[in-house]
Amino acid sequence: MDWHFRSRSHQCNECEAAFEDEQPYHTILFRGMESLERRDICPGCWIKNHKAEPGKIDGYISNWQGVYEVPPPPPPEAIQKDNAETLLKKMIEQNDPEHTEACFILAVMLERKRVIKNKDQVRQPDGKRMLIYEHTKNGDVFTILDPALKLTDLGQVQAKVAELLEHGLNPQTETLPEEETGEGEAESGSAESDDESQPEVAAAADKA
Ligand SMILES: [Zn+2]
Repeated sequence: MDWHFRSRSHQCNECEAAFEDEQPYHTILFRGMESLERRDICPGCWIKNHKAEPGKIDGYISNWQGVYEVPPPPPPEAIQKDNAETLLKKMIEQNDPEHTEACFILAVMLERKRVIKNKDQVRQPDGKRMLIYEHTKNGDVFTILDPALKLTDLGQVQAKVAELLEHGLNPQTETLPEEETGEGEAESGSAESDDESQPEVAAAADKA
């Protein structure tokens, strides 16, 4: 699968001219030797090399125009807790087919919040729909497979996403049923009261 972030280039990938803040550029997404690749192109190179026939590039998938923004400085403090954005990024990097549905729901959530934008959708040879997203601020591009969720499965997947957002992406918490931890606490509670009664029992035994 092509689940990798493709970050926006800071220069034209053809003439190597640096992009300036708020200048337009074009992106071509194509299937490279091993995975999905992107090429970011300045308006001059676009007109000269691609405008007439953007699809002539080998493995062509899609193209769009964007506006380059100088990246903001990194946030002052490291954000520890996962939010929808960091969780999605982690799951995409893990590339686990088990997370296909959760990734899709997160992408829909983030699109609603305008954190990411859907740039295109491509029907794959196997009939599945591949959605191409771009991060509105930093221009990262990634793809999400449409799991073609049934309405009846939606609640279950949403619950899983809510759980992932609360507890983070930790495989151990996924397999651990919540009830068990509850029982464990109850047991340790009763064990404590047993301990308290034992000195009395021991004292009684001494007296006898
Ligand atoms: Zn150029």
